[in-house]
Amino acid sequence: MIDHCPECGEPGTMLIYGLPGPQLSRAVDAGRVRLGGCMIEPGQPDWYCPAGHRWSDEDLDGQQRLLDEILAECNAPPTAHAGASVVEWRVGEPALTLVTPGAPDEVAPFEPSTPVGEYAFVVSPDERYVALFIDSGHRTHGFELFEVRPEFRHIGGLPAMPGSGHPPVFSPDSRWLVGFVADGYRVRGTDQHFTDLFDKRSGARVTLDWASLRALRVPGGELHRVDVGVEMPVSAYPHEYTEWDTEDAVRFTAGDVAVLRMPWGQKVAVSLPPSAPVTGDRPVPAP
Ligand SMILES: [Zn+2]
Repeated sequence: MIDHCPECGEPGTMLIYGLPGPQLSRAVDAGRVRLGGCMIEPGQPDWYCPAGHRWSDEDLDGQQRLLDEILAECNAPPTAHAGASVVEWRVGEPALTLVTPGAPDEVAPFEPSTPVGEYAFVVSPDERYVALFIDSGHRTHGFELFEVRPEFRHIGGLPAMPGSGHPPVFSPDSRWLVGFVADGYRVRGTDQHFTDLFDKRSGARVTLDWASLRALRVPGGELHRVDVGVEMPVSAYPHEYTEWDTEDAVRFTAGDVAVLRMPWGQKVAVSLPPSAPVTGDRPVPAP
């Protein structure tokens, strides 16, 4: 296998042709392989290097073995590390398993309250709690909360909620678990949908509640939920707001102050527990 560039000696990345399935897409997202195009034709290069050189390689078996290894690594089920222990969710089991070297496995039974599509673990900074974030893949999401020490057990969570979420974030002192999720287009103070008010000739402005902030006191405390909104003209077209997302949009400046990054870049600090709706301030886009 010619896995280094014949011209410059840099390590190569495999080029894969054809339409990618979900397993291959994960390897592409992780930067482990690259798509060469959907057409499969003779004479296409098998590798490329960071300098952009491309070359062919006759060792198809070697390439297939390497691709199988990469796919297995990129599609391994998520696990979480807490101290010397590893938390696993074994396929089909209604429990998490805590594996500690030199000690018997411990199990924490639970029933997921959200249908399981994709999932991810989030470990608290003190490694005492683990949240199992579940996205159904059908615009609902939730999480289950577990205590790792002193006893491995399920202690609560967030039942299935609308919206395609991102995993919640623990505060630095491990006392809060905060989720920030785009979950609809509500008009604050009414039961109307923002999209129903659309009038391109109107100068009216309302507060569009497009997301929720949820803060759970850890362990097992009350769940506080508030709307997150912004004033918008009812003449706004859907493309101005339907792509708003909250990926990686929660930070902490202190144990009980969460900073939310709005899709337009503004940062809004919220003291926990949140006691009132959060309102951002969006500059009027240039015409
Ligand atoms: Zn090269």
